[in-house]
Amino acid sequence: MNLAKIARRRYTVGNTPLEFLPNLTKHLGGPRIHIKRDDLLGLSSGGNKTRKLEFLMADALAKGADTIITTGAVQSNHCRLTLSAAVKEGLKCRLLIEERVEGSYSETASGNNLLFRLLGAESITPVPGGTDLMAVMQQMAQEVVAEGGTPYVVPGGGSNALGALGYVACAEEILSQSFEAGLDIDHVVCASGSGGTHAGLVAGFHGNQSGIPITGISVRADKGPQEAKILDLARHTSQLAGAELEIPADRVVVRDDFVGPGYSLPTREMTDAIQLFARTEGILLDPVYTGKTAAGLVGLIQEGAFAKDSDVLFVHTGGSPALYAYPNETLG
Ligand SMILES: *Cc1c(COP(=O)(O)O)cnc(C)c1O
Repeated sequence: MNLAKIARRRYTVGNTPLEFLPNLTKHLGGPRIHIKRDDLLGLSSGGNKTRKLEFLMADALAKGADTIITTGAVQSNHCRLTLSAAVKEGLKCRLLIEERVEGSYSETASGNNLLFRLLGAESITPVPGGTDLMAVMQQMAQEVVAEGGTPYVVPGGGSNALGALGYVACAEEILSQSFEAGLDIDHVVCASGSGGTHAGLVAGFHGNQSGIPITGISVRADKGPQEAKILDLARHTSQLAGAELEIPADRVVVRDDFVGPGYSLPTREMTDAIQLFARTEGILLDPVYTGKTAAGLVGLIQEGAFAKDSDVLFVHTGGSPALYAYPNETLG
């Protein structure tokens, strides 16, 4: 795999830290827990979408786009970061907001919604949950064309094969950092949503023949469909990166038992995990993704999924701006 063959913009200076979490490790009684601080990526309060956007925006610029169109939920980190990248590149950005939980959209909400407005989205269009988002974005693109502009549609979560290359790059960064640190990672735990993060890590770790297993914690979908989606995306990503190895289906493992009642809806375990990370390590998670993923990590440890003397890496994918939109869920 040689990612240098593919055009990329850079939105982060250097690598994100890979740190040991001694207090959390002690609190949980092993395994040793490490964290990849992808909450410290660049752009406006960076997170995992920053890595995907490095490849997606390079493609948009190569195609002469002047208006980016994308979609996400009412507190979408992806929409915030896509807008932020567009601002940085001098492009306009239109957002299609899917109200996945009925009645959850409010024009004056805090958190990411506040930032959509602050960063100057050209338009913010809410639609009901279940809308055919790709079809609506194609219509929005036609409107841009009719106005004389050149649109570029970024799929939800930036999760096509091009975007997922950002997490192939992250897997390579982790391998290089862990080698430098003399750290032999036994297992990786990450969020599994639109899938680019999980699929990119699977493609990157497998393409480098690292043998490191990954567990994706679903934040929305059931295990069966999510695993099928991740495998398909990981294979396409791997092909795009020029890997010659086919990814076996058993490399993709999803747990769906930490979703609770649904996407963005709180669980006791999520609130506990957010408080645990904040109060042992001073690290801010978010209620929609990393809080549930951390609840998954704690759940797996309690099940005895990892040997006490092993090293587990938690990938922090960002999202803390959403804390300010969900104060009750966060403080429990
Ligand atoms: C989008 C998002 C995820 C999920 O990543 P996918 O690549 O969409 O699966 C996880 N954490 C945060 C904070 C996110 O914004």
